[in-house]
Amino acid sequence: MAGFLPNPGIHREPQIQSHQQRTPNHASQSDLMKKLIVFDLDGTLAESKSPIDAEMATLLGDLLSIVKVAIISGGDWPQFEKQVLGSSLSQSKHLENLSLLPTCGTKFYQYRLGWKQLYSEDFSREEKKTIVDALQEVRSTSDFKAAKLWGEVIEDRGSQITFSALGQRAPIEEKKKWDPDFAKRKILKAKLDQLIPVFSVHLGGTTSIDITKPGIDKAYGIRKLHRTLGIAIHRMFFVGDALIPDGTDYPAEKAGVLSIQVKNPNETKRVIESIIDNLDEPFEFAAEVAQ
Ligand SMILES: [Mg+2]
Repeated sequence: MAGFLPNPGIHREPQIQSHQQRTPNHASQSDLMKKLIVFDLDGTLAESKSPIDAEMATLLGDLLSIVKVAIISGGDWPQFEKQVLGSSLSQSKHLENLSLLPTCGTKFYQYRLGWKQLYSEDFSREEKKTIVDALQEVRSTSDFKAAKLWGEVIEDRGSQITFSALGQRAPIEEKKKWDPDFAKRKILKAKLDQLIPVFSVHLGGTTSIDITKPGIDKAYGIRKLHRTLGIAIHRMFFVGDALIPDGTDYPAEKAGVLSIQVKNPNETKRVIESIIDNLDEPFEFAAEVAQ
């Protein structure tokens, strides 16, 4: 697909000046036209761990009818099934334009008469054993091994191994109490960094530690999109709620994608409306909406 122009059939009331009013030089349009709009999931398209709402599903469906869209998150595929495909977006006629990238793009899904996994860059059996052994050693020698557990502590997500100090199904109240200042996990991380220096150890969620191959972040996902879809990075546009330095979306911007920070899913909805109306210059217009 190339050279998208806003589809008059889905035109909305403009919240801002039209493209024609703002950019007289139409010759440059085809160079500026974005071919792929990339979204973070939690805090951007949906509240954390929640499904996207009906209005968001409709807006994303409209966007998919004119341009390719990708959603990239640190979460695994079941989280996408619940948060993205559990909404009415799954009824869209344009799902072929949607790419889903769980665990920052170490997995890649596209719709071809059903959702198909293009690849999954899983740990080898030896790598998994090394990581699990290190986690068990650190856990058994730490001073704050949890007295009570709710479910499994170590979860194998294929390309990521996640340690949940209180177990996968611990109640949120218990989780919030356990390590609110990250102090316990920082100690665990320091030990893991010594034991398994060839892997990346990240602090995530409220009680969890994620272990991946090194260099797995949203920049990695952006490069995967570039290679898999054949779309130049300057033809992409990224929308996320954590573009501050050290934020989980920041690597996407560092990878060279024109990016915009939103505060919450409602702000993202306004940004999507402005992208639909101004696909050739989304940043300038979206920046007026997201303030
Ligand atoms: Mg987010």
